[in-house]
Amino acid sequence: MSRRVRLDVDGVVVDLDVRRSPRARRILLKVDPRLGAQLVIPRGVSRREALSFAAGKAMWLRDRMALLPPRIPFRDGAVVPILGRPHRIRQTVGTDLFHAEVRREAGELLVACHPDDVPARVGGWFRDRAHDTLARRAVAAADRIGAEVARVGIRDPRTRWGSCSAAGALSFSWRLFMAPEWVMDYVVAHEVAHLIEMNHGEAFWRRVERLVDRVDEARSWLRQSGPDLHRYG
Ligand SMILES: [Zn+2]
Repeated sequence: MSRRVRLDVDGVVVDLDVRRSPRARRILLKVDPRLGAQLVIPRGVSRREALSFAAGKAMWLRDRMALLPPRIPFRDGAVVPILGRPHRIRQTVGTDLFHAEVRREAGELLVACHPDDVPARVGGWFRDRAHDTLARRAVAAADRIGAEVARVGIRDPRTRWGSCSAAGALSFSWRLFMAPEWVMDYVVAHEVAHLIEMNHGEAFWRRVERLVDRVDEARSWLRQSGPDLHRYG
């Protein structure tokens, strides 16, 4: 539960997400690449006190925000990666009734809709494609190790790429559909291996390595380039 507050300190304007946390021990001010400036107020501190603390750091916040790589919204002309390859979003007039409204063609993602609807259409397309692809590959990988996938869900978590529940439900970030295929396949193998080994022990890694090559390379790709995928959309 957070609220957006606009700080204006002598013309230095910063938009802050303000929320309370009973667990925080002091006022916390941070800049998150995806969520922007965050102010966390601990128990026993008034909102006014916390906002005045943040106001005192307005310049610092502005400078930190300026260093963040720019966001890339899904709109006409934006270049977005699909399975690791750049594609330019092109909004077209929706005249061709026989084609899907979003279609990938020769390095472009053609979106036949009103310009205002481009972000939602492209976002929906990524989620659908991610779901189809990840579910298919997870079931195939599980088959190879004699495990069973109960369900595949698609989400947009901030830090995790996938998860596996004790009941066999897998969940993945739709953003994996922007990553190279071998990276996506590593995450699939990782979660599928958890269907059998619910830990990160040696037996777990042996299973992952039986399913995919380039495990170390994929992990380092996610560490280095993964956060970048959160700039899109
Ligand atoms: Zn894991």
